[in-house]
Amino acid sequence: MRILLQFPEGLKQRALGYAKELERQGNEVFISASPTFGACDLALDEAKSIKADKLVHFGHAEFMRADFNVEYVEYRMDASLDAIEKSMGELAPYRRIGIVTTVQHVHQLEEIKKIYEAHGKEVAIGKPYGFARHSGQILGCDVGSAAAINNSVDCFVYFGGGLFHPLGAVYATTKPFLAVDPFAGKWLWLDGYREKRRKEEKRMLVRASDAMRFGVLVSTKNGQHNMNLAKMLKARIEKDGFEAAILVSNTFDFDALNNMMEIDAFVNTACPRIATEDFERLRKPLLSANLLMELIKSKEEARRQL
Ligand code: SF4
Repeated sequence: MRILLQFPEGLKQRALGYAKELERQGNEVFISASPTFGACDLALDEAKSIKADKLVHFGHAEFMRADFNVEYVEYRMDASLDAIEKSMGELAPYRRIGIVTTVQHVHQLEEIKKIYEAHGKEVAIGKPYGFARHSGQILGCDVGSAAAINNSVDCFVYFGGGLFHPLGAVYATTKPFLAVDPFAGKWLWLDGYREKRRKEEKRMLVRASDAMRFGVLVSTKNGQHNMNLAKMLKARIEKDGFEAAILVSNTFDFDALNNMMEIDAFVNTACPRIATEDFERLRKPLLSANLLMELIKSKEEARRQL
């Protein structure tokens, strides 16, 4: 069988070992060397170009069905739970705790739950929604397992490294939110990021208030592709007498977008985190679909008052 292997950046260091093992089993094996941003980002074009029979995507849980033979190999990692014990004092004011993590650690949630319960806490693990496949699992673009239990917990704990995943959940919830990092052995309350994000959005709306020409971003990555939404937004922009064009790319290059000097504001329909994490790399404002609708409403309101 001809197989294309695809690894997220953190697992590319193991690619050769997997490839050689599959070769020993009699397969013809290739490795995708392209950047991989998430489970949304299947190397389907590469797999089809080399006429592979199968794409094996490592590291992530299944995201969505593809018109190709794709095997997802989830990656699990046992991280030390010491930081959970050590950060227990932070949770003293709270009784009901919602816990979330990434796919790498979902198998550790039950153990974490027992630790909290031994300290007299009630623990909730939300069911998966949308793209997530496991209870308590969050993705950068799908935090339904946190949002679903927001009203039934006093606070949240995220277990895992980095801030990219927990921040998505912070923006979608309203309760105190502690990130416990087992690798750094540290923990941090993230609530301040909610206000920071709200201020960023307000500034973005002000910067876009005079925009006349909009570029609507559409990614060709199979899990980020949203042409219907882009067409709807373009039509909505044009209905109000402004200009819009749909800008297509697999991976958006911010220098290339900055070269499109005629565009006054960009509207994102690709990975939703581009609008929260990468907006500072663009010279022009970058709006989510929701922010665009707010902008249109305020422009209409301003017109009515003329
Ligand atoms: S759409 Fe964005 S956040 Fe969601 S899996 Fe892809 S890269 Fe991650």
